[in-house]
Amino acid sequence: MKKVVALIMLAVVLVMLCSCLREYSSPVSGFPAEAIKVNQYSINCYYDEVEKLLKGYQHLTYYNNSETIFEDIYMHLYPNAFENEDTAPFEPFERGSAYPDGFNTGFLNIDSVQVGGQPGDWEYKSGDRQVLRIRLPQPLYPGESVEVDIYFTVKFPHCHGRLGYGNKTVKAANWYPIAAVFDSNGWNLDPYHAIGDPFYSDVADYRVSLVLPKNYTVATTGEVLKKRRYDGKNSEWTIRADNVRDFTWVASEEFLVSSKKSDGITIKSYYFDKETGKKTLEFATDAISVFNRCFGKYPYKTYSVVAADFFVGGMEYPNLVLISKELYNIERLFTLEYITVHETAHQWWYGIVGSNQYTEAWLDEGLTEYSTILYFEKKYGPDTAKGLFENLIKKRYEDYVAAAGEEPDVNIQGTLLEYQDSEQYHTLVYCGGALIFQNLRDIMGDEDFFKALQLYYRNYAFQNATAEDFIRIVENIGDTGLRDRIREWLVLGV
Ligand SMILES: [Zn+2]
Repeated sequence: MKKVVALIMLAVVLVMLCSCLREYSSPVSGFPAEAIKVNQYSINCYYDEVEKLLKGYQHLTYYNNSETIFEDIYMHLYPNAFENEDTAPFEPFERGSAYPDGFNTGFLNIDSVQVGGQPGDWEYKSGDRQVLRIRLPQPLYPGESVEVDIYFTVKFPHCHGRLGYGNKTVKAANWYPIAAVFDSNGWNLDPYHAIGDPFYSDVADYRVSLVLPKNYTVATTGEVLKKRRYDGKNSEWTIRADNVRDFTWVASEEFLVSSKKSDGITIKSYYFDKETGKKTLEFATDAISVFNRCFGKYPYKTYSVVAADFFVGGMEYPNLVLISKELYNIERLFTLEYITVHETAHQWWYGIVGSNQYTEAWLDEGLTEYSTILYFEKKYGPDTAKGLFENLIKKRYEDYVAAAGEEPDVNIQGTLLEYQDSEQYHTLVYCGGALIFQNLRDIMGDEDFFKALQLYYRNYAFQNATAEDFIRIVENIGDTGLRDRIREWLVLGV
């Protein structure tokens, strides 16, 4: 009898376990399994290197994870920001670097949409075509899903921004229709913007088939499952990425690649200059090791640092970061290290713990910038870190405040639209944000400060967190007065 009961119990446990695993598409050990179903993207695409055109077909299983009944769903079409000179996401002084041979258009055309296998009712929501609205044939209730098929064409601009091609690389970043986030503020449909990283998305699973000229090597989010001959001219890369909030790839005919396995993660450096490319692999490996220890383990199998025709310095995407190929110069090794580490820290703050980079940029940028200093502290010692913090962060912030006059604008929590230029944005959001984290560490002490960061990481992994979520953790671990202090710093300055 006892045996039968034990067997029944075992069967019940197994059934419960299985249903748990089904609900959470890719459980990652060490993180609480949330009972949400993430969106599933399956994208097949073909890149024509002569015309710089990508033909794509995307099948999306979209889940309504909200409490609201949807009549429509919305998707960002970010490449359309590159269609006209007046919406191209660059500040006036950046145009020359972004378009070395003058403005060149880029866009995403929707060729057709089907919903549930039937022709879909869709429109570009705004004049600049940056948002796609799909009217659903019937309401989508909480917990339900809908199948959406989209055929689309992307024209890559000749551009050294996030999307486009240059002499060495083709960069596909923010390149396909991606579901907008629905949160307590409703649909977030903010367009591309010249200042900051104007993106906000939910984690999803991706299966991507990418057909590229056979002489190309591709660096991507996720893992390459296979590469095979497609036809005489092209190869097909099959890629899988689970629980990532975007999917990015960069291809080149000239990539040199170095890789290393560390803490179970395959870390790769894609570069054109051997000496600095190999150094970059070291920086990335050390950064992952420091952040694994300080915050919690990086949960993916791959991480790639990719040299690209990208004038801005660095840019984070899940499992992959872009670094300007101009920084791969032995004379600029410190900058290369600093930027590589900053973008690597974004894997934790942006990639795994997401947040609204449009309305609360300080939360990921401030913490990422502070994490960069932590890397220097752990690797080179507290004196080096202190010197960098004083010179690159504190002094820059204080100089700005002093130069701004009697009533300086010190709002660290502004939306991207509120900053005059990227200089002001960087000083307030990166430096001011990092100062907040240093102040918190000074007040809370190391033990509580790192406990708070680890809890923030663990509780919000694969979700989107808000400043309020972070503050709640800090005040639960530390002094309750910290809430007012943080709010004060955000508005009145640090
Ligand atoms: Zn950043």
